[in-house]
Amino acid sequence: MKLLVINAGSSSLKYQLYDMTDESVLAKGLVERIGMDSSILTHKPTGKEEVTEVSEILEHTTAIRKVLEKLTDKEHGVLASVNEIQAVGHRVVHGGEAFKGSALVTPEVKAEIRRLFDLAPLHNPPAIMGINASEANMPGVPNVVAFDTAFHQTMDEKVYLYPIPRVLYKKHRVRRYGAHGTSHQYVSRVAAEYLNRPIEDLKIITCHIGNGASLTAVKGGVSVDTSMGLTPLEGLMMGTRSGDLDPTVVTFVMNKEELSISEVNSMLNKHSGLLAISGSSSDMRDITDGWEAGKPNETLAFEMYEYRLRKYIGSYAAAMNGVDVIVFTAGVGENSAIVREKTCENLSYLGVELDKELNKIRSGEPRRISTPNSKVEVLVIPTNEELMIARDTLHIVQESK
Ligand code: ADP
Repeated sequence: MKLLVINAGSSSLKYQLYDMTDESVLAKGLVERIGMDSSILTHKPTGKEEVTEVSEILEHTTAIRKVLEKLTDKEHGVLASVNEIQAVGHRVVHGGEAFKGSALVTPEVKAEIRRLFDLAPLHNPPAIMGINASEANMPGVPNVVAFDTAFHQTMDEKVYLYPIPRVLYKKHRVRRYGAHGTSHQYVSRVAAEYLNRPIEDLKIITCHIGNGASLTAVKGGVSVDTSMGLTPLEGLMMGTRSGDLDPTVVTFVMNKEELSISEVNSMLNKHSGLLAISGSSSDMRDITDGWEAGKPNETLAFEMYEYRLRKYIGSYAAAMNGVDVIVFTAGVGENSAIVREKTCENLSYLGVELDKELNKIRSGEPRRISTPNSKVEVLVIPTNEELMIARDTLHIVQESK
C-alpha cells in the first residue's frame, strides 16, 4: 500500500510518500511560502535528483495538486497515477482530550479538531487546510490524523492538572497536554526493540531535543509525564522558548514594560531560551562553538540549557522510581555529542556511565552510547515521526475496512 504523509503548517506543507510493503520512502519534499508571492516546491524522489520549482501557490489545495503533479511527473515522478495513493496521514498538533490515538477522518473528527482551534490557534487551522486539500485532490481516499498530544493522554490527573482553581479546567480545559508525542512514542518503541526487551518492563526517559524540546517519562510503554504543558512553552529551555519560569514573571514584565498579551507571548516563544541568553543564536551548533571558544554568553547559555535538561532527567527518574533507559533524539539529541556528554556527566548518581568514544560516532542508526557497566542504557535513536504516522495510517485504514 502506498501512503502519503502530510505535515501542513500555515505557509508550508511537508510530504513523504511511503511504500508500506517495506516502509520505504519513494519521495519527499516541501512546499514553502504558500500564500506569498513566490512559493517554492522542493521535490526529492528517492534515488533521483532533487528538483525545485518556484510558482504562485495561494493555498493548500493548490500546493497538494502541485505535489501530486510532481509525484506523477514523467521525469521526476515515482507513481504512474495518483490512484496508487491509497491513504493519507496528517500530522495534527493538538488533539485535546478527545483523541487518545490516531483517528480516521470523519466530519465529526474534523469538527472536533476545529473545536480545538482555541488551544492551538497557530497549528490546528493549517491541519484542517491540509485535510480539506487532500480530500479535494483525492476524493474517496481515506485520511487519518495523528496528534502530537495523543501519546500523553495516558498521564494521570495528578500529573496533568495544574494546582490552580479547578473551574479553569472545567470551563476552559486548562491542563497539561504535552507535545512531540509521535516522536516520544516512536523512539521509546525503537529503544525496546533495540534492547530486545519488552517495553512493558522498561522505565524510559525520552529526550526529544531539537529547536523545540521536551522530555517524556515512558513507563511500561505509556507516557506518565512530559515536560510540555498547555502549550509547548513549559519545560526545558529551548532554542527560542524560555521553558519553565515563575508565572509572576509574565505579569511583572507586562506591567513594567507595558507589554500586550501578544508581545509577551512573542517574547517567551520567539525571543527567549538560547537566543536570549547567548544574544547571538538559537542554534545549538553556534552555542557550542561559542562555548568552545570561551565566549561568556554562549557558555552561560550552554550551561543553563544542560543544567535544566539534567534537572528534568533527574525529576523523571524520581517520577518513575528509577530509569532503565535514556534516549536522546531530534536535532540536538541526535547530533550534539557534547550536550549528551555534559548531561550524562552529572547523572553518575543514577549509575549512568557514558562511553565517550561511542558517543562521538555518528551513524544515523539507533545505537548505544553507554558502557557495559552503566546501570542505565543510554541510546541515540533518530526520530521518524512521518514513519510513525504512516504506520498508524496503515493500521487504521486496514482496521476500518
Ligand atoms: P525542530 O524542532 O525544528 O524539528 P530539529 O529537531 O530539526 O528541530 O532540530 C534543529 C536543531 O538541532 C537546530 O536548531 C540545532 O540547534 C540542532 N542541531 C542540528 N545539528 C546539530 C549539531 N551537529 N550539533 C548541535 N546541534 C545541532
